[in-house]
Amino acid sequence: MKKRTNITNDIIKTTIGALKNNEFEVWYVENCYQAEEVFWKEIFAKEEHSTVSWGDSLTLHATGILPKLKDRDDVQLIETFGEHFTREEKMINRKKALLSDLFLTGSNAVTSNGQLINLDMVGNRVGGITYGPEKVVIFVGVNKIVESIDEGMKRVKEIAAPLNAKRHSEFKMPCQVTGQCMDCNSPDRICNVWTITEKAYPKGRIKVILIDEALGL
Ligand code: SF4
Repeated sequence: MKKRTNITNDIIKTTIGALKNNEFEVWYVENCYQAEEVFWKEIFAKEEHSTVSWGDSLTLHATGILPKLKDRDDVQLIETFGEHFTREEKMINRKKALLSDLFLTGSNAVTSNGQLINLDMVGNRVGGITYGPEKVVIFVGVNKIVESIDEGMKRVKEIAAPLNAKRHSEFKMPCQVTGQCMDCNSPDRICNVWTITEKAYPKGRIKVILIDEALGL
């Protein structure tokens, strides 16, 4: 069932227009099933991709695309996560991912002015969005739309990061206990690198599939 958000149709329309104006290629779909369809038909099938990789994103996982990519023999999936890899192996793959043809991930926030806001621990996800992979696909729910960069950064630090910290029991951070950002000095701190993507460059390099659901953190 579709989850409710407080984002109005007008805000969604404004955001789509602003993203397009900022040179992103944009699709607006109702749910993860349609997002997956758009990915295969409108993006994956339109160009040759010998290598595909990803940066961690619950929204991307919700689409179910990754296991299907793994099963294909016409493309190499560079795996950046997985319990079968050591930390060192994952780090090596995350570097290789920066040279992939197609890089899939989510966004921590999207402003109604058409900017992407992201915060990383390692930097492999924001690295891939910024430079390296030929094409980038961002899967993002409308619940991530915010009015401004300030509001987006606040949302990421106050809501998304403490929730994300709880997903990582292998690390130790105070927000896992308090549920609030303590601007910590933990060696395991997951909040280290911010990026604001104001425009896609070259035009269309970054593709945004905006999903009319509340997804991710
Ligand atoms: S800065 Fe530290 S306390 Fe704050 S959200 Fe990030 S990991 Fe948690």
